Amino acid sequence: TELTGRIVKALSGYYYVRPLDAASDVAPIQCRARGIFKKRGESPLVGDVVAYEETENGEGAVNRILPRSSELIRPPVVNIDLAVLVFSVTEPALNLQLLDKFLVHIEHAGIQAVLCLSKQDLAEDGEDSEEARTAMSDVLRIYQPIGYEVLVTSSRQGEGTPALSERLQGHLAVFAGQSGVGKSSLLNALVPGLTLETNAISSRLGRGKHTTRHVELVDIGGGYVADTPGFSQLDFAELGIEELGTCFREMRELSSGCKFRGCTHIHEPECAVLEALERGEIAPSRHSNYVLFMEEMKEKKRRY
Ligand code: GDP
Ligand code: ZN
Repeated sequence: TELTGRIVKALSGYYYVRPLDAASDVAPIQCRARGIFKKRGESPLVGDVVAYEETENGEGAVNRILPRSSELIRPPVVNIDLAVLVFSVTEPALNLQLLDKFLVHIEHAGIQAVLCLSKQDLAEDGEDSEEARTAMSDVLRIYQPIGYEVLVTSSRQGEGTPALSERLQGHLAVFAGQSGVGKSSLLNALVPGLTLETNAISSRLGRGKHTTRHVELVDIGGGYVADTPGFSQLDFAELGIEELGTCFREMRELSSGCKFRGCTHIHEPECAVLEALERGEIAPSRHSNYVLFMEEMKEKKRRY
């Protein structure tokens, strides 16, 4: 008989499949993929929902992959429907450029985003508390009005972690953010028994120690979190220059009011976006990051 389950881990040619709706203490079944996958040049990935059947000695075989709702290339995990973008209020300092870049990719992939402002305790006291408070109010002021959820957390004090855990229910979520913002600490706080190694910023490049680790889905009782703290980037499919404007949601909404079709909202007359920017209805940092990303994409295109 054919069963349906989710691949929670892939290692050395084995896929670990958990039956859908299984209780969290049900161990995954170790499966091989049928030869047909190799012939077609496709392979099951972590996050896939698959049809499988049990074979001898408690193992199984993956027969088919069910349609995917999203595909993340790096880290390699599919069917993600929620991204938690972690930014610390300080240490490291808030980087709005990186935040907007994440949001572009997430809008393009059509998944939900939650902005998580971590290390809230550092806004209460400490030498950087003023910088931290400014970062907090900037994020709330810029992103809440355009419809992004913002959750403020402190893994150190347990602040906001129950709300985050609640928000993850029923989702397959991925955490993203620079090295050192506290992703591992958050995951450890959310998942009883999980003990990911946490580390301070390890180099000036900000690369974490475990960027090459394999991905594994962690059951948080009613949802899954991809255990990928080492990945500080999210790479979905390539984005076209003409699509960039649609990935800034407040600009997307206004663009039907622009005089020219295909308006880039940079230099055109009677541009509804530039007019809104002028009136102070669009955050200057959002528009300037949009212009910057546009330049970067053009530059990249020129070079190839
Ligand atoms: P990751 O690289 O994003 O996974 O970050 P880690 O979880 O490894 O944390 C980086 C550093 O920040 C560690 O030294 C943690 O102890 C520290 N840290 C993590 N969460 C908090 C927090 O809520 N408050 C404070 N003050 N420090 C934290
Ligand atoms: Zn325009």
